Amino acid sequence: MKQILWFRRDLRIKDNAILAHAKGEVLPIFIFDTNILNKLPSNDKRVTFIYQSVLNLKKELQSLGLNLAIFYGDPETVFQNLKVEGFTSVLCSVDNDHYAKKRDKNIASIMPLERFSDSFLIDSKEVLNKSNLPYKVFTPFYNALHYLWEANKITEFTTNQNLSLVEFNHRHIPTLEEMGFTEQPLPNFLMQDPHQLLKIFSERLANYTHYRDFIAINGTSEISVHLRFGLISPKEIFNAMRPYSESKPYIRQLFFREFYNYLLYHFPKSQFENHKPIEVEWNNNKEHFKKWCEGKTGVPIVDAAMQHLNKAGLMHNRLRMIVASYLTKNLLIDWRWGETYFAEKLLDYEASSNVASWQWAASTGSDAVPYFRVFNPYLQSEKFDKEGLFIKSVLPQLKEIDAKLLHKENGVQSNLFLNYPQQIISIKISRDRVSETFKKAHYENV
Ligand SMILES: Cc1cc2nc3c(=O)[nH]c(=O)nc-3n(C[C@H](O)[C@H](O)[C@H](O)COP(=O)(O)OP(=O)(O)OC[C@H]3O[C@@H](n4cnc5c(N)ncnc54)[C@H](O)[C@@H]3O)c2cc1C
Repeated sequence: MKQILWFRRDLRIKDNAILAHAKGEVLPIFIFDTNILNKLPSNDKRVTFIYQSVLNLKKELQSLGLNLAIFYGDPETVFQNLKVEGFTSVLCSVDNDHYAKKRDKNIASIMPLERFSDSFLIDSKEVLNKSNLPYKVFTPFYNALHYLWEANKITEFTTNQNLSLVEFNHRHIPTLEEMGFTEQPLPNFLMQDPHQLLKIFSERLANYTHYRDFIAINGTSEISVHLRFGLISPKEIFNAMRPYSESKPYIRQLFFREFYNYLLYHFPKSQFENHKPIEVEWNNNKEHFKKWCEGKTGVPIVDAAMQHLNKAGLMHNRLRMIVASYLTKNLLIDWRWGETYFAEKLLDYEASSNVASWQWAASTGSDAVPYFRVFNPYLQSEKFDKEGLFIKSVLPQLKEIDAKLLHKENGVQSNLFLNYPQQIISIKISRDRVSETFKKAHYENV
């Protein structure tokens, strides 16, 4: 029996389900999938991050006496070739994303494919309400996970020590350039070992609830990119944080990640459709959308958030909520447009969290903010970036501006010497518009 261990979103050797379940002769592989890569621009930062992570994984596997064969191509072709080489089965981790499910189904028609759940704490099939149906609202779901919370430690997978590497000649490692990409600079924290990042964060854990919403403060763990690509497992994070008496609010956020993945598993259509059965008459003004993407809406907090996203591939959670509310409620643009744009840009892009969070902001999700709760971006920036430290760090032309003006509608524009765009929409008028639109969509009846 020659097994293929297909690493995808689990680029680690610790607490890894496929290394625990594998038996005998194995070939660990990673495929740079052309179906995904061909759609990305040559300066995509994620490809640089994944590339470096894959090379690290190769070294880690070598330390276990194994190795990693790295392919560049269409997974179907790769597996057809591997079948000819006498491989009999594939082990990989579960991925609920639409494309991943389709791809896995195709591969399973070439050779038996066994998927293990290890990118999330729970197996979505196993958590159901009293009527044996999936939860749709976070709080009861969260309460149903009390058994996890009460556990001081969740058992991690242990690597099978009796694995041996199949003799296979695949030494070539495709370069980024061969795949059509150029190496991109990445923020320092991404270069750090995620276990080290968590350790440093644990010293700030007690302040998490207090600081996590303040944009210019380093109040969160910044672990989402490592977690997305599985450089650390959610169990490892849980086990590292659970012993701290102040860990509950942090673990609650990890459970949000679980919830969103759970929703995508049970309601796969929600990746593309409103979860609530409503038809919203979106305005979908292309010029407004372009200005939102480029960070030229005339609202300093929105512009700074979007320009930072475009440059760094990162966005603070509070900013994600502000720009998502602004796009869907003030500009009345379909959440799918924003979701797609985030998918292109976010280093930590994860379909489940992104889709559910956008549906939350747009009031179309299963557990969403009510449509009449529209964030006022100026009040938000006043509260969460009072001194304008974040805004000024991204928009240097506003450096000398009195911070109070940043938090006032048309405040910055009152300075005639500044070259700053006019607001593309009035906050008050757009609030009234969204309210009318959702009433017409019979939101109250769902
Ligand atoms: C519109 C919108 C889109 C989003 N898109 C994504 C996405 O594509 N990928 C993604 O990982 N997160 C997404 N989030 C959730 C959240 O913004 C990020 O997980 C968080 O900013 C990551 O920073 P951190 O690791 O410092 O978080 P911390 O506050 O340190 O939280 C620890 C971990 O808990 C999870 N988490 C925290 N908050 C949330 C949340 N609200 N929803 C789900 N999981 C959460 C993340 O895995 C995070 O890494 C989105 C939120 C919004 C409002």
